[in-house]
Amino acid sequence: MPQLPNAILAELNAIVGADNVTTEPNLLRHNSRDSYWYSPVLKPLLDDKEADVIVHPATRQELLAVIALAARARVPLTMRGAGTGNYGQGVPMQGGILINTKRMDRILEITPESARVEAGTLLINIERAANEIGAELRFFPSTIMTATAGGFLAGGSGGVGSITWGTLWDEGNVLAVTIATMTEEPQLLTVTTPEEMRGVVHNCGLTCIITDLTFALAPAQPWQQHVAAFPTFDAALRFGESLAYDAGVTKRLVTALEWPIPSFFRQLVRDGACPNDQAIVLLHLTMDRAELAPRVAHFGGALTWHSPHENYYRKGWQLSDFSWNHTTLWAMKADPQLTYLQDALDPQRVHEQLRLRKERFDDDVLEHVEFMKARGRIGPQALSVVRFHSKEQLWALMAWCEEHGIRVANPHTHRLDEDMRWNGQPILDAKARWDPHSLLNPGHLAALEESRGVEE
Ligand SMILES: Cc1cc2nc3c(=O)[nH]c(=O)nc-3n(C[C@H](O)[C@H](O)[C@H](O)COP(=O)(O)OP(=O)(O)OC[C@H]3O[C@@H](n4cnc5c(N)ncnc54)[C@H](O)[C@@H]3O)c2cc1C
Repeated sequence: MPQLPNAILAELNAIVGADNVTTEPNLLRHNSRDSYWYSPVLKPLLDDKEADVIVHPATRQELLAVIALAARARVPLTMRGAGTGNYGQGVPMQGGILINTKRMDRILEITPESARVEAGTLLINIERAANEIGAELRFFPSTIMTATAGGFLAGGSGGVGSITWGTLWDEGNVLAVTIATMTEEPQLLTVTTPEEMRGVVHNCGLTCIITDLTFALAPAQPWQQHVAAFPTFDAALRFGESLAYDAGVTKRLVTALEWPIPSFFRQLVRDGACPNDQAIVLLHLTMDRAELAPRVAHFGGALTWHSPHENYYRKGWQLSDFSWNHTTLWAMKADPQLTYLQDALDPQRVHEQLRLRKERFDDDVLEHVEFMKARGRIGPQALSVVRFHSKEQLWALMAWCEEHGIRVANPHTHRLDEDMRWNGQPILDAKARWDPHSLLNPGHLAALEESRGVEE
């Protein structure tokens, strides 16, 4: 692990103040990690990786001064928001400086149409500020309470609300991003065009440093939360489809979960939301119970839980706490042998695909389907819960999925370009342009590591 010269530490202290520079070993270890431990494949690879120093700039000027120092001294630099990323992309593989953005958390400008915020702003704070002026985030990850705006843009994809508004890649959702280049004299650039945006969205801190960004907002809705239970997963999924594909239904979340996944949600079980042996659907809708109940009954189900609008992100459990990648968290708590996959199902063949997967893998794969819009089309995305036996078994399962038309985005690699579908070439091009010395978050691109002769 490279140690930083004292002169660099002294300069960092001078830039942000000694209170905002961390070199204490336990803090370094703890705060260098993200949520890579979701993957039993990544865990042993990343457990011992940590930064040499963590700095907490409070302003853009401080941030730029740290970047300039790192570029001059050719020290690796890794950006971090809340560290909830799941593939280890926030883990500094080669030590160096880790910048935590949490002190850069100002909402710079907010109107009912858009919010311009500093990178470290918590998503929940944007949602609350938007609510005060009759607006809301178009979509957010289930980590809304802890995740930062910059971390979501650089490390996430979509979440609650994506069923209506799509993902970070879809045009019109992210209006502008201010980035700094990783150079001796950092340049500030404003990115707005779809082409340039592809080098910023989900770049995992590899291409640039995001200083502030503008999210488009949506008009606020009177959301209510419901759980519906069904005797079979197929019935739950068909009910989910009936809402997802109905343009007349105003919706933010439609999540279908196979039994025994609901049994992992202890609090919801205690509330009677998860009857034994039944699949459930988690919903954020504007529809009330009376209107929803006959639609649920039509598919042989029953409503089992409800939370009124007054409680929405204010009081009690929120169903997003059990959806998206929170589902996997509860599963792993219940049984440490469980992990997950991220796969896109074919809307035309989803029932057949899931039937074949069940026949082939039985309960080694438990189904978790989120409906979301991508490139203008709503479809079923799976965050299946998977029983881990070995890396070989996991790779064989992914190969089987691909053979059956289920497209997998592998969450068990920290090397972003191992699956070029994640937008690889635009990221590589942007990196060459904005990080000419290859100092940003090194170790997470197979193409660069291979050219340096590094093997894993
Ligand atoms: C329980 C759980 C549920 C989740 N649910 C979802 C979900 O619903 N949808 C979803 O998309 N994701 C989800 N995730 C993944 C993750 O929480 C989100 O992507 C989140 O938005 C990341 O924000 P963060 O502040 O924690 O970013 P971090 O983890 O700190 O960073 C993520 C990546 O962005 C880079 N980065 C951070 N800040 C900057 C910056 N200013 N400039 C450049 N690069 C930067 C980091 O280097 C890292 O590579 C989930 C994760 C967990 C653990």
